[in-house]
Amino acid sequence: MLIRLHRRALLAAGAAALAGCRSPTAKAPGGYARFLRADQLRARADALIVRYPRRFSRQQIGASRTGAPIEMITLHGGARSALLVAGVHANEPAGGLAADLLMHRLAEDDRARDALDATWHFVNPIDPDGLALNQAWLGAGPTPEQYFAHFFRPALHRQPDYTFPLRLGDYAFTDSPPENLAFQRRAPELRLSDAQLRIWRGVLYRLRVGAGS
Ligand SMILES: [Zn+2]
Repeated sequence: MLIRLHRRALLAAGAAALAGCRSPTAKAPGGYARFLRADQLRARADALIVRYPRRFSRQQIGASRTGAPIEMITLHGGARSALLVAGVHANEPAGGLAADLLMHRLAEDDRARDALDATWHFVNPIDPDGLALNQAWLGAGPTPEQYFAHFFRPALHRQPDYTFPLRLGDYAFTDSPPENLAFQRRAPELRLSDAQLRIWRGVLYRLRVGAGS
């Protein structure tokens, strides 16, 4: 199956889902009291599908290394196709809430769904084993409200590990921030090869833009 993303639709939906929570003092979107375990995400999806059975279909698309099912839930509604895969980094549970919130908002809001003209596929979580290994702190650590109010991570082009100089065809990145330079410049004396440094030159392809399905 070929699944295509439409970047503008995805960003518009994300903005709609998160509208009103841009202030650092705003409440966590969706009113989640805690980050959610895989079974809790599934229970919420189950309840939503019971409410709107004709809008959804679901299928098991795989299994984790321990055999836990990996499910894709599809919210039908348009010509374009978008895939949201949440929980790719098992220690970052905010993505699971974002995907859960977006699925609920889109299921409940006919106008938003029609305007975006997309069929949405949700895989949440993609790594149930990894999420389970974080389970001990999900219910005891910072609440989503604390997280949304105080969490910080720089923009990608300011993160110390993603900002080594890079040249790819016509594209060149040379604006390494000082935090990156601090260890980049030690490479010769530590005899780290270019190939070893390249480990940090991660390129993230998060969106694939297609012409519709
Ligand atoms: Zn991550």
